[in-house]
Amino acid sequence: MQYHAFVIKYAEIGLKGKNRYIFEDALVKQIKRVLARCDGEFGVSKVAGRIYIEAEKFDFDETVSALQTVFGITGICPAVTIERNGEGKLPEVEDLCKAVVDFFAGVYPDRNKTFKVKVRRVDKSYPMDSMELGAEIGAKLLEAFDSEGLKVDVHEPQILVNVELREKLNIFSEILPGPGGMPIGTAGKAMLLLSGGIDSPVAGYMVAKRGVEIEAVYFNAPPYTSEKAKQKVVDLAGIIAKYTGNVKLHVINFTDIQMYIYEKCPHDELTIIMRRYMMKIADILANRSGCMGLITGESIGQVASQTMQSLMCTGEVVKDMPVYRPLIAFDKQDIVDISLKIDAYETSILPYEDCCTIFVAKHPVTKPRLDVIERHEQENLSEKIDELVRVAIETDEVIDIKK
Ligand code: ATP
Ligand code: MG
Repeated sequence: MQYHAFVIKYAEIGLKGKNRYIFEDALVKQIKRVLARCDGEFGVSKVAGRIYIEAEKFDFDETVSALQTVFGITGICPAVTIERNGEGKLPEVEDLCKAVVDFFAGVYPDRNKTFKVKVRRVDKSYPMDSMELGAEIGAKLLEAFDSEGLKVDVHEPQILVNVELREKLNIFSEILPGPGGMPIGTAGKAMLLLSGGIDSPVAGYMVAKRGVEIEAVYFNAPPYTSEKAKQKVVDLAGIIAKYTGNVKLHVINFTDIQMYIYEKCPHDELTIIMRRYMMKIADILANRSGCMGLITGESIGQVASQTMQSLMCTGEVVKDMPVYRPLIAFDKQDIVDISLKIDAYETSILPYEDCCTIFVAKHPVTKPRLDVIERHEQENLSEKIDELVRVAIETDEVIDIKK
């Protein structure tokens, strides 16, 4: 079937009352952004509570895949459109019925199905109302296909044929799923602590899905971690950027801080203390760039540094904003499922070590006490740590990832 347009469905953002246009405009902007990277000519318009994409010379699969990365879209309906004639008139009823029959024949090779026709008239120039027109089209479909098993079911049809009389005539029935969520740019910005693992890209995706722009920070430990480990994080940021459009990635050289903690602190507390400094630095960067929260891929009990006691100790250093942990109650398999869905998994499992896996203690504390951790930091790190943090932030390498 040769489609000419897409009708875009969006659920939640339809509910936003007076602010609705903000959400629709953000959605249009995001749609235009992803279509810019597709072959073809597209026109995106917002008319009377609907978003339409007119499409010419386009690749269907590529276009649908791109639209499936736009948060806010719940359904993508490929449509056939018929232009008005030279006098600006919609087709005669007879031609309209024929167009729907052709559409049906093209989309459904198997016609042993139940159906219903739904007509929406914005242009009311037809002599019939929507019900009458629907009945007329339905009768013509039956006439054409009842010998092949086609039947009407007005309550639970397998196929709902939509016919919309607007500026043009639109016919559509299939609804391909969109990702849901809210359009990027309708919430604010948050700082994702992005490691090379499975969890943090998923955490970033989930928060972004609520319309939140993402900035990211990666703590790098050269020469203990390789250039490939860093590239892996850049690639993961690129996967998130496919959805969010733009990710500013901070690469913080964490080696000196990590070595200093390693030299001075009890080794079973190394991961917790290191994590606290990651959080502190992320908090400072986030504050500077107008973020309203940090995001991590932590999940209760997944590893020693993510017991509830550990989470208390690491979260405690963040003073300026909330820490969002969207995976907090997820099992690993649930996280892996999302990672696969967003095509991050293959990259996440590449075997390059990140800074958390080097210098790791054999028996890390699983129930750290905040007062003890704070005391050890004060006793052991106060001489140089502030300076090391300052230098780490000053030498921040910023990579702009655009999609
Ligand atoms: P992930 O799969 O996201 O790496 P993980 O299961 O390996 O998570 P941890 O290594 O304990 O868990 O890390 C917990 C969280 O801390 C990560 O999800 C991430 O948000 C953050 N984090 C850990 N290491 C780094 C790093 N090197 N750079 C940036 N953030 C990090
Ligand atoms: Mg990790």
